[in-house]
Amino acid sequence: MICESCGIEAPTKYVELYQNIGLVILNIHESIKGNFCRTCIMVFCRKYTLVTVTAGWWGIFGIDLTPMFLLNNTVRYLISRRLPPVPFNEVPPKLTDDVINKLNLRSEEIIARLNSRGKLQDVAQDIAIESGVTPGQVVLYITTVSRSKEPTIQCWLP
Ligand SMILES: [Zn+2]
Repeated sequence: MICESCGIEAPTKYVELYQNIGLVILNIHESIKGNFCRTCIMVFCRKYTLVTVTAGWWGIFGIDLTPMFLLNNTVRYLISRRLPPVPFNEVPPKLTDDVINKLNLRSEEIIARLNSRGKLQDVAQDIAIESGVTPGQVVLYITTVSRSKEPTIQCWLP
C-alpha cells in the first residue's frame, strides 16, 4: 500500500534483507525490514546481495552466515518479482491544505479507531474513501500529526 522506504502508494510486501561483511575476526551485519514496493526491494536486494557475495566470506563466521544471507535475499527477490511494477511517474503522497482540512474534520474518528487497535492500513483505507483523499495521504497525515510537538491536531486549523 505505502512503501516504507520511498513513500509511494503501490503494492508492497514485507521483507527482511541481510548483508554481511567479513573482516577476518569479526563480521559486520546490516539488515533492513519493512513493507517495501517492488522497486525498493529490487534496489535493496541488489545492494545487500552484491556486498555479501563479495565481502561476506572473509570473516570468522562468513562460511556460515554468507550462504544463509544470500539464500534469504535471493528468495525474497524472487518472491517480490510477483509484485506489480511501480508506475514510472508515481510520486509520494502530499498533504495539501484541502487534504488537511478534510482529514481535520475526521481527526476524532481517526484517533478513536487507532486507539481501539484499528490497523493503520485499514483505518487509512476507510477514511480515504469517506474523505475523498488517498490512503497514503491519510497515513502521511497521521504520521505527521503523531510527530508534531503540539498536543492536538488543532494546531493545523486556520
Ligand atoms: Zn518504495
